[in-house]
Amino acid sequence: MLPSCALLSRGFFRFFRPPAPKILMCSKQEENAFLHAESRSVTFPLDDRTQSVMNLMRNVHANFDDFVGISAPQVGHHLRIILIEISREIYLTDNTAKEVVPLHFLINPTLKPIKKFGKSLDWESCYSIPDMVGEVLRYNCIEYTAYNIEGKIMKGVVRGLHARLLQHEVGHLDGKLYNDHINQARFITKEKFLEIMNQRDSGFRNKR
Ligand SMILES: [Zn+2]
Repeated sequence: MLPSCALLSRGFFRFFRPPAPKILMCSKQEENAFLHAESRSVTFPLDDRTQSVMNLMRNVHANFDDFVGISAPQVGHHLRIILIEISREIYLTDNTAKEVVPLHFLINPTLKPIKKFGKSLDWESCYSIPDMVGEVLRYNCIEYTAYNIEGKIMKGVVRGLHARLLQHEVGHLDGKLYNDHINQARFITKEKFLEIMNQRDSGFRNKR
C-alpha cells in the first residue's frame, strides 16, 4: 500500500473541494461503448498526461464521502489505473470489510483468484450506473500485483470487501461492468434496494 501524502488526505480535499470531474455513464451510448473497451498498460516514469488523469481520479475521491474506488476509464481515459480506499467509516459499517485500506493508486494491476476460498454474492454499485445496485458473485480471496506511483511493485492477498473492490475496479480496465454478467433480477434501483434492506431490518427487529 502507498504511504499517505498530505495532498491525498481527505481532510485537505474536503476543505478545498475541487470541482467533480465528469464521470462516464452507461446510459449514454457513446460513453457506454467507451466503458466497454479495454484499457492499455501505463509506462514509467509517469508522464504529465497520466498524472493529470490521476488528479481527476483524486477529485472523484474528494467529491464523494462514500468513496471506495474509481478507475481511469470512468473519467475518460483508457489507462490501467485504479484508485481505492476503505475508510474507517466504511470498515466499521460494512461487515465484509476486513481492514482499513488507505487511499492509494494501483497501476497495471493483475488479479489471481484464490479459488479454494470460494465465491460470494453481495451488492455493488458504480458511479457509471447511478441509482442502481446489483448483486454480484465474486471471489472471496484475491492475490494481486500492481505498481505504485513510483513504479515499485506491490503484492498482496486480500479478502472480503477489499477483494470485491479490486475485482470491480479491474473489471473496468478490462471493459467489464458489474452488471454485464449478473442476473437481471438482481439488478435493481437503489430505491428498491433500500426498501429490501428496511424490510430485512424490520424482520430482524420483529424476531427480537
Ligand atoms: Zn464501477
